[in-house]
Amino acid sequence: MDLMEYQAKDLFAKHGVPTLPGDVAETAQEARAIAEEIGGPVVVKAQVKTGGRGKAGGVKLADTPDEAAERAGAILGMDIKGHTVRKVLVAQASEIDAEYYFSYLLDRTNRTFLAMASVEGGMDIEEVAATKPEALARIPVDALTGVDDAKAREIVEAARFPADVADQVVAVIGQLWTAFVAEDATLLEVNPLVRTPEGKIVALDGKVTLDENADFRQPDHAQLADVDAANPLEAKAKEKGLNYVKLDGEVGIIGNGAGLVMSTLDVVAYAGEALDNGRGGSVKPANFLDIGGGASADVMADGLEIILGDPDVRSVFVNVFGGITACDAVARGIVQALAMLQAQGEHFEKPIVVRLDGNNAEEGRRILDEASHDLVELIDTMDGAAGRAAELAAQGA
Ligand code: GDP
Ligand code: MN
Repeated sequence: MDLMEYQAKDLFAKHGVPTLPGDVAETAQEARAIAEEIGGPVVVKAQVKTGGRGKAGGVKLADTPDEAAERAGAILGMDIKGHTVRKVLVAQASEIDAEYYFSYLLDRTNRTFLAMASVEGGMDIEEVAATKPEALARIPVDALTGVDDAKAREIVEAARFPADVADQVVAVIGQLWTAFVAEDATLLEVNPLVRTPEGKIVALDGKVTLDENADFRQPDHAQLADVDAANPLEAKAKEKGLNYVKLDGEVGIIGNGAGLVMSTLDVVAYAGEALDNGRGGSVKPANFLDIGGGASADVMADGLEIILGDPDVRSVFVNVFGGITACDAVARGIVQALAMLQAQGEHFEKPIVVRLDGNNAEEGRRILDEASHDLVELIDTMDGAAGRAAELAAQGA
């Protein structure tokens, strides 16, 4: 689970990392009240789970409470890389002498943790990393020994932090490691970590990813879930225990097995590339949905219900490779699911393209043929079915 900046900041503060006072607002009036309380210049920052807010105009300074309200009014409702801004952080503004970069992450490839640090932090860190890799120090951190003072000093020296702030940075890096471990994070990033003109080190931004596998021992983390921002279809799918991710295309996808679904997304995107979606783009997958190995009629019905309930969906591609649950069982599942949905009074007229292959494929196809549902079209190959589903979506545009 990714945290918003204000949540990351609270988490930092809990572990002693220096941050500046502030609070989160959902309206311009609330932003004004927070600015009044802080007194003095503030920074108003869009709270969205994506980077590059500064460059997108989502971070603005304000000298007075009125100006803070005005800035908040402009930022709330903004779209930043597809994320609508519903909250802003209003925090005491900081003067900045230098912007540094710091992060801890789980380095899966090397089976270790990694600390990354640079004295050239700020909004262009990606460019620094790409063009001047030597300016970004990367120091592996052993999970068992962690970051003690000596390790923190090694990181500070590798990144060449100035001598006058070295001790402070060592301390902050230690606190960040404590937070990283105590909260079961897989990523913790501070960019910028700033030096103020008074020579104080402060975390001005924060990005944290928590490991959901550790939820069982982190009861406090449940409240951090962003229920209103979560897509309603995703929330409904989660309730039903489905592995669903909403995407921005038009072809609804159901498959059994995450790998198959991933490749289905690819073939649909490829098939839809040359087709017009009527919105100035090409035809693309509308979602990821893996119904897993044992696709019962209930699970298929839940999956179809979610996908058919997505107003962006214009056609559906059910791509099944029969394994332990053979194709005949899946085919019966589809027939029953459609009957169940129709019995529930669900009204839908979106075409459904089905491709069945693998164990008992022929019997599965026979069952679907026999049911001869007017919305269901059976196609033998994955590429053929992807092409047909994309074509139907383009026709529905
Ligand atoms: P990001 O662009 O999404 O990473 O958002 P940041 O929180 O990192 O803000 C972007 C930039 O805004 C920072 O690199 C700073 O240069 C600037 N900024 C953020 N907070 C303050 C502040 O309190 N005072 C000043 N002067 N600049 C700030
Ligand atoms: Mn940042």
